[in-house]
Amino acid sequence: MKQLDADILENLPGRIKKGETFRFRCHAGLSCYNRCCRNLNLFLSPYDVLRLKQGLGISAGEFIDQYTDALLREGKHFPELLLRMKDDAEATCVFLSDAGCTAYEHRPDTCRTFPAEHGLFFNAEGKKERILFLRPPTFCEGIHEERELTPEAWQKDQHAEQHNAMNELWGEVEALFENNPWGAEGPSGQRAKMAFMAAYNVDDFRSFIFESSFLKRCKIKSDLKMKLKRDDTAMMKFGFEWIRVFLFGLPSKTIKMK
Ligand code: SF4
Ligand code: SF4
Repeated sequence: MKQLDADILENLPGRIKKGETFRFRCHAGLSCYNRCCRNLNLFLSPYDVLRLKQGLGISAGEFIDQYTDALLREGKHFPELLLRMKDDAEATCVFLSDAGCTAYEHRPDTCRTFPAEHGLFFNAEGKKERILFLRPPTFCEGIHEERELTPEAWQKDQHAEQHNAMNELWGEVEALFENNPWGAEGPSGQRAKMAFMAAYNVDDFRSFIFESSFLKRCKIKSDLKMKLKRDDTAMMKFGFEWIRVFLFGLPSKTIKMK
């Protein structure tokens, strides 16, 4: 997440502006088919984790343990999750089969958007802007196909609206971690573990909300409480809000201290 001047943003290489089109079609007839599902660093957003664990029918904790590695990049203050690839010569994606992606319905946002990438920037006035870059690997033949797409048509084609919206919300929270919130206890302390759970692990975070003294200390509306019991996406949004309130002291309309 970066803050850029409007003119730098305007001229970023590969950027597809609103209303502009790009050519792309991916299909099994191309010799590059599935090549991009190998040798890649696939970072997973919290919402990617949520959708994949739902699709696989396992808990978020099981998914995180079995399928990911956490990485704290230098200069960053919050860990990211990488999908753990197969231990073969091409570091093949664990979800790739001869028939294609076995997780297709639940595939991560990066796979939906590829060969483009999203960015979320805050301009000098603090205004948020979602931008799209075309960044195909050199072997991608799909970009020479006839089909013309706008960024909006591509998002719709890939059913990426909900992923994009949730990742945008997460991007706003992640931007807060530009500042180190951990103080002396560092990024492996208790507060960091809680924040990781609030971001990535909706199942454990739900247990924390309903099985600890949280509801004695914080007031939330009863209809939201009901929703949090059964709706993973609502739970994840609540987790993001919890991070804003308890880690960064921001005001909230949703969570009130008693
Ligand atoms: S999740 Fe599916 S689309 Fe994404 S890299 Fe893996 S196999 Fe390819
Ligand atoms: S390299 Fe491009 S065209 Fe080939 S499979 Fe990947 S996205 Fe599709």
